[in-house]
This record gives sequence, C-alpha cells and structure tokens, in this order.
Amino acid sequence: MEKKITISQLQEVAAQAHEQFKDNTDGKNADYIPYLANINPNLFGISICLLNGQVIEIGDTSYRFGIESVSKVHTAILVLRQYGAEKLLKMIGADATGLPFNSIIAILLENDHPSTPLVNAGAITACSMVEPIGDSGKKWDAIVSNITDLCGSAPQLIDELYKSESETNFNNRSIAWLLKNYNRIYDDPDMSLDLYTRQCSLGITAKQLSVAAATIANRGMNPVTQRQIFDPELSPKITSLISTVGFYERTGDWLYTSGIPAKTGVGGGVMGVLPGVMGISAFAPPLDESGNSVKAQLAIKYIMNKLGLNVFNGEGVAIE
Ligand code: GLU
Repeated sequence: MEKKITISQLQEVAAQAHEQFKDNTDGKNADYIPYLANINPNLFGISICLLNGQVIEIGDTSYRFGIESVSKVHTAILVLRQYGAEKLLKMIGADATGLPFNSIIAILLENDHPSTPLVNAGAITACSMVEPIGDSGKKWDAIVSNITDLCGSAPQLIDELYKSESETNFNNRSIAWLLKNYNRIYDDPDMSLDLYTRQCSLGITAKQLSVAAATIANRGMNPVTQRQIFDPELSPKITSLISTVGFYERTGDWLYTSGIPAKTGVGGGVMGVLPGVMGISAFAPPLDESGNSVKAQLAIKYIMNKLGLNVFNGEGVAIE
C-alpha cells in the first residue's frame, strides 16, 4: 500500500505545528556552554526537504545556530566514507550507551567494547579517525567539506561559540584522555578533541540540516545539488546509528512517539530522516532536561503523527 500526501498538505501541517508551539516557553537554553545560554529563546524554525529537492520552510530557517551534536552524524558519515561500515563497527561500534551524551561511566563500563559515534566519546574517536591522520588542518578541511557536501552549502564557524566551548569543555577533555587510556583514540587526543569542539561550533541553518537529512533519506544523493555524496549502501547504516541513540537515553521514547529516527544537538537543532521520503529539521534553543529541544520535538512529532507517517508503518509514501 502507498500513502499519498500532497506538498500543500505537508506545508499546511508544518505551518500548523509552528503556529501551535511557537509560544511554548518550556525548557531552557543549554547553560553549560555560555554562548548558548544567551541565544534568543524565541527563535523557531521548521524545514522539510523532499527527495525532489523542494524545501518547505517555516519560521527561522535561515538563522545560523550551533550544530553541536548533530555534527556527530556528519562526521560518522565521513568516517564511513573513509573506512567503510565494518571498520566503523570495529573501531567505534554501533551500540546505544543508554546514558547521557557526555557520560564517562559509559566509557568505563564498556572499556573492552566500543560504543557509538553519536555520543561524545565515540564522536571524539571519530574525529581521531578522520584522514589524513596527524594533519589537523587537512582533517578539519575534510570535516567541513563533508558537511558542505551533505548540506549542499557550507557551514560557518561561530568563533564565539568555539571559544566559549573550548574554555569550558573539561568533561570532554577527560573523555578524550580516558579514551586514550583504553586505546580507543587513533590520533593525538588533544587534536581530536579540538576538532570535535570546532565541528560542534559550526553554524548551520535548519534548512541546511533538512537537506543533509534528505541526503541520508535519499541513499546518499543530495536532492538539491544532485550529487552522490556517499555509497547508497551506507544509508541504512547511518539511519540505524541515528535510530539507536539520536536522543541519547531518551531515544526509545522518541522513536516510539515520533516514528522518525532523528538526531539532536544542544544548540536546539533536531534532524530527522524518513528513508525514501524526506529529511526534516526543526530548531528552537530551549531544551528539556536531557538536552533535546522542546519545540523541535513537539513540531516534528506533530507533523509525523498528523500525517500518519512512521518509519515502522511498512507502507510506501508518495509526496506529490
Ligand atoms: N558540544 C557539546 C558537548 O560536547 C555537544 C553536546 C550535544 O549537542 O549533545 O557537550
């Protein structure tokens, strides 16, 4: 069976979601990174990119916010592009930690067993793996150009965020060196941590994230630039990583209630992938206690449920 949805229906439901939640004041901006604490909490944008390249935008979709942990997906893709699916599994892993994004206990508990590139520890390991090993400048270029490929346009470093995060990332420094202790970092630990911090400080828009999500949903072909960015066979691997741990210790609840694999970041962005259908992104700074944007979650859930879309429905979807 195939479900049919019109583009105007999708536009209408996205506009309803924006209208319904724009005045919601629940949650608060991330406060452990000083720059993020001061972002306007009323910003709110929703963007949907269809696989024909058409983008639906509502609200603040051109505002550049900190990509933060959503970048973990992008760099996991880069590592998959450079090393392939098997090596990622062996060198980092693909298991949920069931613990918060910055957990040190997770590393201690699983010291003989790698975890996922979508929590801080695995993401720092992923940065350490980016080729060419030993060359921080070239590694950074590879990270940025991979994000540019996926989004169809370049991200821009938010210097103030990078500075703010570098000055306060004590927990992540411990993670980098603990990983080194367990031989789970494959380049210089300080350099790997710096690359991770810098990638989290890249400014990105909701529109760009929806295009990146659509590239994953479209088996590696960016629907806007029409360029094949990664091997189509990697697409289900990426979506499986996102499904397992995209919302950290809240991932099961998220998937159960929203029906879409999605990745969050403490900058307020959420990027959702509906394979074969669309990429969706929402952005609003105030977060719940697990570090996930309150309004972005509400908006994406509303759109999915209202349209009866669900990755587990087992039905094809045609958007025309
Ligand atoms: N840069 C943030 C950190 O490492 C990212 C956390 C997140 O977005 O979940 O703490």
